[in-house]
Amino acid sequence: MLGKLTAQPGDKILELMQKFREDPRPVKIDLGVGVYKDATGRTPIMRAVKAAEKLWWEEEGTKVYTALAGDPGFADAMIELILADTLPRSHIAAAATPGGTGAVRQAFELVQMANPEARVFVSDPTWPNHLSILDHLGMTAIPYRYFDSATGGVDAQGMLDRLAELRPGDVVLLHGCCHNPTGANLNTAEWQAVLTVITEKRALPMVDLAYQGFGDGLHADAAATRRVVAQSPEALIAASCSKNFGIYRERTGLLIATTQDSGKTPLAQATLAHLNRQNFSFPPDHGARLVTRVLTDPALRADWQAELEEVRTGMLALREGLAAELQRLSGSDRFAFIAQHRGMFSRLGATPEQVETMRARSAIYMVGDSRINIAGLNAETVPILAKAMIDAGV
Ligand code: PMP
Repeated sequence: MLGKLTAQPGDKILELMQKFREDPRPVKIDLGVGVYKDATGRTPIMRAVKAAEKLWWEEEGTKVYTALAGDPGFADAMIELILADTLPRSHIAAAATPGGTGAVRQAFELVQMANPEARVFVSDPTWPNHLSILDHLGMTAIPYRYFDSATGGVDAQGMLDRLAELRPGDVVLLHGCCHNPTGANLNTAEWQAVLTVITEKRALPMVDLAYQGFGDGLHADAAATRRVVAQSPEALIAASCSKNFGIYRERTGLLIATTQDSGKTPLAQATLAHLNRQNFSFPPDHGARLVTRVLTDPALRADWQAELEEVRTGMLALREGLAAELQRLSGSDRFAFIAQHRGMFSRLGATPEQVETMRARSAIYMVGDSRINIAGLNAETVPILAKAMIDAGV
């Protein structure tokens, strides 16, 4: 049986990480993998998370199963963080999942259960896992135009033109903030125009929210998601705690289904629990407990928000530093978009050949589409990257 398997495509970012590790040059810069790093290159455990872990270690008295949808306190705390008072709790079904990836996967499966004909419209480009999970499930992905490489911004008109082809029951996958891989985001008016089309076409919005707090702040980064939920008859949200709580390996996420008709909530809730049961049964609990503790303990929450804010503003400063250095070296404003992008990523607009040149000449590692992880930079490496870009003809 095992001999009949066919090789699956490798993960480009993991392959890149491997090459980086094998590179013997003393000065090398890893801008590949999507993990936050501080100025020393470490991915720290956040202070409040560490404190919550200590408290929980003292308090935890059993490791018995929780509930199929996870601990209800986790869902409540996350719903408050993401949606505040956008909708009454009785209109919201939610289930804990293994990371944001688990939430994305379960969301697609939920769509498939309800409407096997549904097509999922995804931004071009999007996080590659969106496409590979859809493909794995045998679902149809339809790319919509998104990134305008000429400006480094969003091609909102191109996006709207494609969304005009939506059929009732189709799904539109949107990045709630901090678009991965481009860093380019819709503005408020563009969000509104997109939502109007989705509603007119009776399609379903699905928000992937993996970077709340990494863009313009916790509240601002949730604004678009809240707008989607407030205005749509139904919506799905796949939320990840990996980045904003720094708990990547704890696998902590939440799938949320909202409805304007609270009569639909019990069936949605039961179906989310059923899906968990079929895929992995009970979701991981440890990370969810830490998140709940941090969000519900005022002192821990304040400390977490302060540290998250340092992370966010640190990345913004790196963006501004890189844009300024590129302006100095190129004598033009053509890289100003880097300071306008938000989140951990920016697509620089380099060709695959230029990306390869930067790797060969300067030991700078980025994904072939020229996505960089801003957090992989620091004050010393910003000028190195800027010079390498200009030298490579970007
Ligand atoms: N969505 C997007 C757009 C992401 O970038 C990520 C993380 N790379 C995720 C979802 C999910 O991350 P995780 O499963 O680690 O929570």
